[in-house]
Amino acid sequence: MGRGVSPPATVTLRPGLAESFLEERVPDPKPEPGDLPEAAPRRPERIGVLGGTFDPPHVGHLWLATLAADAMGLERVVFMPAAQPPHKQGQPITSAASRLLMTRLAIGAEGLFELSLIEMERSGPSFTVDSVEELRALYEDASLFLVMAADSLAQIDSWHEPDRLLSLIEWVVGPRPGAAPPDRAALHERFGPAAERIHLVNGPALDVSSSEIRQRVAAGRAIRYLVPRAVEELISEQHLYRP
Ligand code: ATP
Repeated sequence: MGRGVSPPATVTLRPGLAESFLEERVPDPKPEPGDLPEAAPRRPERIGVLGGTFDPPHVGHLWLATLAADAMGLERVVFMPAAQPPHKQGQPITSAASRLLMTRLAIGAEGLFELSLIEMERSGPSFTVDSVEELRALYEDASLFLVMAADSLAQIDSWHEPDRLLSLIEWVVGPRPGAAPPDRAALHERFGPAAERIHLVNGPALDVSSSEIRQRVAAGRAIRYLVPRAVEELISEQHLYRP
């Protein structure tokens, strides 16, 4: 025989407490036409831009975009796959069509993320500085932020016109395992006062790379959870990265 359930204890409110509680919630009286506050100027939209080869896109890319958006209050992050990554000239890379499709699938239904084809639609090497000029014309009222991880920042002097790039767009730099955390003093020495336009973001870092995923697929090893499921399925269907 189970014991009976005791009735709920009655809560007695101090006299007048409920009334004062309700009073606090009485909505403000409707403003008269004359005292409407002036409309606040709209803050420009804050958009992150994450360029890469995305061969394939993986959770490290998605997490970097999320971390940057969270730290910088970005309203969207545009994933911009490179047609011809300048750093990977001479290296075999997967077709633009497959990388685009994988990036589309990786973004999935995430409302914060978008895909940009601007580098795919341009011939010649995909210099980020050229893409940023295009994006600035496209989103002229927005504040743009170039998102990258510490390994990219460490190699920035091998990029095309890094100083002009920094003058065109602020940078947001996230952590990456294997890359030393950026050094503020060294950035000031290199870029002078413009170093203020480089925002360093801290947070967890995922030790995953596209090259390791390619190697794992080639060796028949698991990549589940390193890439979104739809990307894993496409890799398998299209026999990508197989020897
Ligand atoms: P690969 O291994 O083929 O060189 P990758 O994994 O570095 O590729 P990319 O497409 O070249 O991927 O990277 C695009 C951007 O994403 C770069 O700014 C890079 O620093 C960043 N990134 C890539 N992997 C990670 C990760 N695991 N964590 C944080 N950022 C990352």
